[in-house]
Amino acid sequence: MTNDASNPPVTLNPEPFSVQSQNTRRVGVVRDERYLLHKPGHTHPEHPNRLKSIYRMLDADFSGQLVHIEPRPATLEHLDLVHTPAYVKRVLKTADYRYTSLAPDTPASAETYLASWLAVGGCVKALDTLMECSVDAGFCLIRPPGHHALKDRAGGFCVFNNIGITARYAMKEYGLRRILVVDFDIHHGNGINDLFHKEKEVLYLSTHDPLLYPYTGDWEDVGEGEGEGYTINMPLPRELTDGEFLHLYQAMVGPVMRAYQPQLILTAAGFDAHEEDPIGRSRLSEGAFGTLARFLMGWRAEIGNPPILYVLEGGYSPRALAASVKEVILGLLAPGPVEKAAIKESQQTSDMVARVRKIHEGYGVW
Ligand SMILES: [Zn+2]
Repeated sequence: MTNDASNPPVTLNPEPFSVQSQNTRRVGVVRDERYLLHKPGHTHPEHPNRLKSIYRMLDADFSGQLVHIEPRPATLEHLDLVHTPAYVKRVLKTADYRYTSLAPDTPASAETYLASWLAVGGCVKALDTLMECSVDAGFCLIRPPGHHALKDRAGGFCVFNNIGITARYAMKEYGLRRILVVDFDIHHGNGINDLFHKEKEVLYLSTHDPLLYPYTGDWEDVGEGEGEGYTINMPLPRELTDGEFLHLYQAMVGPVMRAYQPQLILTAAGFDAHEEDPIGRSRLSEGAFGTLARFLMGWRAEIGNPPILYVLEGGYSPRALAASVKEVILGLLAPGPVEKAAIKESQQTSDMVARVRKIHEGYGVW
């Protein structure tokens, strides 16, 4: 390392934070240049520039304020928690080719396997760091994303189901039995939805555009068997404002948190509902994501501050993505109360809340 390195690695050390105000939280961030090695092609929306833009923002706006969490590659044991050995082998095999594909929309380059292994490993390491109480909140700024990945299949730009594996790891390693996954990516996280469909140990809550890939996540998809009522899907109309979006979360996630009392909160953080996103058709601004982070931190405080981990999913405008991640990190660092004016209840959102409550009232989960 050169002695004039402008960005020295910050090691896990809570010391610098002790001098800060009590209102400032210790936020851990997983980042690594090796996440840029997955190259699906110049014109593919899930481009390394997404993370480059975020990393530049971190250096410019949060230098020295975040705890760096160093990822290490996942083990086969981690991957086996969700994926079939044949699929894991198939991903590994992509290393033999300069360019190949795991699914029609999910190309792979020679080092995709490494980025994918590190994406899972980064989440696992972040969870360990949270469970040691070395940080108050974490954000995995990783790629490839994961919420569409199935047990034996890639899809929707996703290779391994990063959050699914993290939830399984939390159950196995730490004995957790109530894990809340909040997925605000504009696409339905069918991979997570399916993995925990029959289980009550993971409550999956998603808001998404039903007219976009993968066209799943209907209101009536509530889970099955023991997991009935532990899957909450809310399809969104495209014209929602920030205030309306926040009203939906306030009316839904607040009560879910208080009733379910999660021991861990995992957030499938996709920012493709942003108005500038080239794939999403919604109209949120970055401020909505920051306010949602403050909401989540507030509800979490009410139930004893369980660990909270944000994991990056989609978001395809590098500028809007970095701006949105910045708002979230500000919200995690210094949560503070949410101003009433930020929330806008409309006839449309009241009807949506009434509908989801009616569908779920019989299960008694929230
Ligand atoms: Zn998405």
